[in-house]
Amino acid sequence: MKQKEIFLCKYGEIVLKGANRKYFEDMLCREMKKRAAAYGNFDIYRAQSTIYVEPKDDSCDMDGMFLSASKVFGIVAIQRAAVCEKNMEDISRVAAEYIPQFLAGKRSFKVEAKRSDKSFPLDSMDLAREIGGVILSAFPRIKVDVHTPDVIVKVEIREYGAYISAGSFKGAGGMPVGTNGRALLLLSGGIDSPVAGYMMAKRGVKIEALHFESFPYTSERAREKVLELASILAEYAGEVRVHIVSLTHIQEELAKNCNEDYFTLLLRRYMMTIAERVAKYKGCNALVTGESLGQVASQTMQALGVTDSCVKDMPVFRPCIGMDKEEIVTVSRKMGAFETSILPYEDCCTVFTPKHPKTKPELDKVVAEENKLDFAALADEAFESLYTVTVEAKY
Ligand code: ATP
Ligand code: MG
Repeated sequence: MKQKEIFLCKYGEIVLKGANRKYFEDMLCREMKKRAAAYGNFDIYRAQSTIYVEPKDDSCDMDGMFLSASKVFGIVAIQRAAVCEKNMEDISRVAAEYIPQFLAGKRSFKVEAKRSDKSFPLDSMDLAREIGGVILSAFPRIKVDVHTPDVIVKVEIREYGAYISAGSFKGAGGMPVGTNGRALLLLSGGIDSPVAGYMMAKRGVKIEALHFESFPYTSERAREKVLELASILAEYAGEVRVHIVSLTHIQEELAKNCNEDYFTLLLRRYMMTIAERVAKYKGCNALVTGESLGQVASQTMQALGVTDSCVKDMPVFRPCIGMDKEEIVTVSRKMGAFETSILPYEDCCTVFTPKHPKTKPELDKVVAEENKLDFAALADEAFESLYTVTVEAKY
């Protein structure tokens, strides 16, 4: 028979304090139930700041569920534990068979035992000593170290059974998605904006996305790439609605009528203006971009000032603002987006790019350039082109 395993998912005490606690817990439990449904027949329940993920039969995909649980924001650690009957014979057998896989490459361990069922004949000290001996015989290369062990093996005697585990895995951290408002992410096909979306989702923000395309200057494949990035984000953030707006006419008008040095800045002002409008229309309370200070000409402090001044009454979050490219890439790889982000398709920001972009633009000069066009009419027309693709939650 296959060894029965369960997952104990711990959520951070700190973020869950106060009146919102039950709300957070309900959100987390619901999320875990949705995910579990994709991997088999599980029982999901909670007790003592822990969500228990327990398979009801042998057909459950435990590795699949483990990976999925590790993407749930709000879970700080996941412990995989074997479950058995509450007698020494079973506990010893399971410890000998189940624990060694977690000891490979480790030098030392200790056993911590806990007995919430006081009718169990051995006390915690004796139980720990006994199981320590069992593990040493099963895995003789390892040593006991009670002060700084590489691995802590836990044996817990609870109401319905005995649980045996070795170490715990880091969860995704953060706060459950949906507990901290809804924001509109300006999603390009690059590296930075998917990371920005991931970081805001980690803080509990429900994400909608806005992508600007410029067909035929940007291709069908560039759009597919953006939808693929949204789908990677959806592994963590749940369903992502991707709103798509065409900037083709705006870009052609800019190219025809305005000073080339201002192209990118003007385009970004259109983007932010349209984004705020889409956000309000779709019930989002903030914008999110992937900008990082000084990374390119349009991301200097002055350039950001010029683009920000278009946004009238909502915050613009830029979670990558203080990160180096290398740090952004690390998160991008961790979330699994990097390989997609580096596919070489054009973005609307890369068509009609100025050779000498203004790095220290002055707002009045930018506005003078902008006034060569009917800004409001062009923004209205672009807004009318909006259509939405819903990218399903991916568990
Ligand atoms: P990214 O890697 O996210 O594309 P970037 O370093 O290439 O960022 P820019 O291209 O200047 O920087 O874009 C800055 C931000 O503007 C992006 O992070 C994104 O939030 C937004 N943005 C850029 N292009 C688009 C687009 N086509 N659709 C939606 N948002 C965009
Ligand atoms: Mg880009």
